[in-house]
Parts: sequence; C-alpha cells; structure tokens
Amino acid sequence: MSQPIKIGIVGVGKIVRDQHLPALAKDQNYRLIAAASRHGKVDDIANFPDIEAMLDAVPELEAVSFCMPPQFRYDAARTALMAKRHVFLEKPPGATVSEVEDLKTLAAQNGVSLFASWHSRYAPAVEAARAFLDTAKIRSAAINWKEDVRRWHPNQEWIWAPGGFGVFDPGINALSIATHILPAMFITSAVLDFPENRASPVAARVTFRTSNGLPVTMDLDWLQTGPQSWDILADTDKGAMVLSSGGSKLAIDGKVVHDEPEAEYPMLYKRFAEIVRAGTSDVDLAPLQHVADAFMLGKRNVVEAFFD
Ligand code: NAP
Repeated sequence: MSQPIKIGIVGVGKIVRDQHLPALAKDQNYRLIAAASRHGKVDDIANFPDIEAMLDAVPELEAVSFCMPPQFRYDAARTALMAKRHVFLEKPPGATVSEVEDLKTLAAQNGVSLFASWHSRYAPAVEAARAFLDTAKIRSAAINWKEDVRRWHPNQEWIWAPGGFGVFDPGINALSIATHILPAMFITSAVLDFPENRASPVAARVTFRTSNGLPVTMDLDWLQTGPQSWDILADTDKGAMVLSSGGSKLAIDGKVVHDEPEAEYPMLYKRFAEIVRAGTSDVDLAPLQHVADAFMLGKRNVVEAFFD
C-alpha cells in the first residue's frame, strides 16, 4: 500500500460533517491533517481561517478538498493548484463552466490532479442502469427530481443567491447520472420558475433531445412535501426502467434488480486516490454545461415569493 495522501479540507459545513469526515476516517488512502474554514472546525487536527494560512503552515499537505458553496470556490482552488496540491471539488465544481475549465488547465500546467466530483454518479445502481441502457433501444426518458427545500436546505442563503443554482443544486445530481447513463443530449426548451423574492429558481421544466432525436424531459420541483422523488425513467425495447432513490434502486418492468445501500463518498475518495496516484484528472463538465444551458435558453417565469 502506498503512503497515505496528506489531505486538508476547506469549507467546513454540512456536507463535510455528514459525508467527507466519515469517508476520510475510514479510508487508509488518506490522512486528514488540516482544515480551513472561517467558522467551522474539525476536532483533533490543525485548523486555519483560509487556504493561504493552511498552505503556509502545513507545507507537507498534498491534496485539498473544497466544500464551500460553488460561488466561493474558484480563488481558493486556484491557490491550491498553483501551490501544486491535488484538488477535489464538491459538486457543482464551480459557479461557471469557464472557471472550472481554467482550473483544469491550471492543474495540467502544475502537474497535479483535479477531480470534479459528482457524488450521485457513484450511487449503487447507476452502473447497472448504464449497463442495461447500453444493451437496450431507448424510446424516451424522463427525470423527476422533486424534494422539499425546507427539509434539505434550511437557512442556506447561498443556494438562492446567483451562482447557487436554486433547484438545479439537486437537479445537477440528476444530470450527473443522466449524462452518464443516457446518450449525449442537449436542451431544446426550458421554463424556470423564480420566486419573486429570490435570484434562483424553485422549479424547472426542461426538455432535451438526444443527437438521434430521442425525447428526454426533466421536471425539477423544490416544494414537494411528503414522499420525495429522485427518479430517472426510460422506456425501452427491453422494458420500462426506473432508477429511483437518487440512483440507489433499479427496477425493470416493476421488478427490482438492484438495491444496495449507498456508499457514494467512500467511492468518490477511492476515485480521487486513483487519479492522484495515476497522475491524471477527472473533470466532466457535462452536468454543469446543461445547467448553464438551461439558464441561457430558459424562459423565466415569476412565481409567488418563497420564505423558509
Ligand atoms: P454549507 O454548510 O452551507 O456551507 C459549507 C461551508 O462553506 C460553510 O459552513 C462555510 O464555512 C463555508 N462558506 C459559506 N459561505 C462561504 C463564503 N462566502 N466564503 C467562503 N466559505 C463559505 O453547505 P453544504 O450543504 O455543506 O454544501 C456545500 C457544497 O456541498 C455545495 O456545493 C453543495 O451543493 C454540496 N453538497 C451538499 C450536500 C448537502 O446535503 N448539504 C450534499 C451533497 C453535496 P465557514 O463559515 O466556516 O467558512
């Protein structure tokens, strides 16, 4: 086994506590040695206010995970890449497509790895869905991603700000799966519902078509109470596919063929260690590009104000 990669974390908030810290604690590929955050702290390691202070004080650091909201990530990630540290970006990798392209170039110029992580792509039934669709003739597909923002994102102001993506913050998870299992596609129309007091959409209806003309729809809604839906459906010559629970469960014609507990973040860190050791990068911008296209092509619909 190679030496553990000495890693630091920047932006200590909900996802760091829920997923990154438990995944790193169990992974022998890493030793977490530092954290940088304005307010958040990680117990038993060195803590700093920002990436600059962390790099100055911990020269042995080899890699950094950036977990602050996407609008505030570029400068910090750039600093780490210029200092020749490998970089892991939480999803979405940035607030714009071009800034992430720039980070990709910087990683190559500095001889380090950049990982634009897409956690939903590592949900347990995603590869099985991809294998099924590879052998089937797809007639149409539909993405239904409907959740309750008050339950999952209480008091997160950044998510409603420009660059926070609104309902596309969960929607990009669906797109990270769809772009992995469906043929290449592009947006043909979109309607985005913006609450009158918010800068980001609370719902969206998007239509795509694949290059060979298949219709794909996406319905995003952030006001769904009761059961939550994170589903991708495909009508095929081999049956009706339902990939549900955010990619955890696969059913064909109503019969469950794959249902396993999720281990998305352990798999993300395994992949990051692989690319660091192989000296490569893994930066797929397709999900982010679709979100950019939805904002570019979408009709803006003003709806009633949203209050937490
Ligand atoms: P969060 O808890 O609201 O924010 C993470 C941390 O980022 C904050 O605690 C804050 O730490 C730092 N931060 C906030 N605003 C900042 C600013 N203006 N400048 C610098 N740092 C700032 O968010 P989160 O839920 O962890 O989400 C972070 C990222 O993970 C997002 O891209 C999100 O899409 C992704 N993600 C979230 C979830 C989830 O369930 N929440 C799931 C998967 C992925 P300090 O105040 O200490 O600096």
